[in-house]
Amino acid sequence: MSKYVANYNNMEVHRIGCPCVMDVYENHQRGYYSLQKALSAGYDGCKNCLPAYHNLRKRLK
Ligand SMILES: [Zn+2]
Repeated sequence: MSKYVANYNNMEVHRIGCPCVMDVYENHQRGYYSLQKALSAGYDGCKNCLPAYHNLRKRLK
């Protein structure tokens, strides 16, 4: 079981169980075991379930 779900439609990653995941179309989802892997693949943390990682890329710029 993956622990995180990335949405490659809007490039955000969620924890499994985040209510936002319900809004992600299944064919836009990609599971990740590691948050670091998702972040290094270019995903941004969800502001709801991963606020510490939200807009990380924008902050780094
Ligand atoms: Zn979320």
